[in-house]
Amino acid sequence: MIVAIDGPAGAGKSTVARRCAEALGLALLDTGAMYRAVTWGALTQGVDLQDEAACAGVAAELELDFDEDGVLIDGVSREAEIRSREVDRAVSIVAAHSAVRRAIVPCQRKIASAGAVAEGRDTTTVVFPQADHRFFLSASAEERARRRAAQRGAGAGYEEILADIQRRDRLDSTRADSPLTLGEGVIELSTDGLSADEVVEALLQLIRSAP
Ligand code: C5P
Repeated sequence: MIVAIDGPAGAGKSTVARRCAEALGLALLDTGAMYRAVTWGALTQGVDLQDEAACAGVAAELELDFDEDGVLIDGVSREAEIRSREVDRAVSIVAAHSAVRRAIVPCQRKIASAGAVAEGRDTTTVVFPQADHRFFLSASAEERARRRAAQRGAGAGYEEILADIQRRDRLDSTRADSPLTLGEGVIELSTDGLSADEVVEALLQLIRSAP
């Protein structure tokens, strides 16, 4: 079974997808982590982020996989590195390159081939349009920034995080290839004011009651 969970940055996709995967006994596919990994690789190698072919070269070279702690790049756990502010700022530029997406999407389908809860913008529209269940989690930019700031703890500036989220929303929604969008037939759930537990419960109920 494939469950695809779409939506903008900070809408709660990661937490909700992880808990749904546990509840359903499915693997978790964090598609954003893969674009972050390519971005980290490009930054580390000093590749020009605007250079589509060079970024696609990085995507093709890196071996990406997951273990229980998160992403593995060439067999090494790199979760901390891919969550840095530097990667936060650069990832939408790299993810907008079609050649990068062409390299990454087949890997995503392969990793999920035995069933998965896949999360990320475009998972319901492009990567798994035939998924058994497709959801789009939304929330206001302010609520999403508050959650991110709380996750990151002391020292995380709310205003800066809000600005990053608004910038990424803009880039992700307006890019030509696989923009962030609510696809036809995808169930939208607003998570404003809901706890992660409440969202998980709502999704599991929808999945279990589906014909
Ligand atoms: O979900 P996360 O915030 O880790 O995603 C990081 C970035 O990766 C997003 O802002 C977006 O630019 C890109 N992304 C994407 N397609 C996906 C998942 C993430 O373009 N399926």
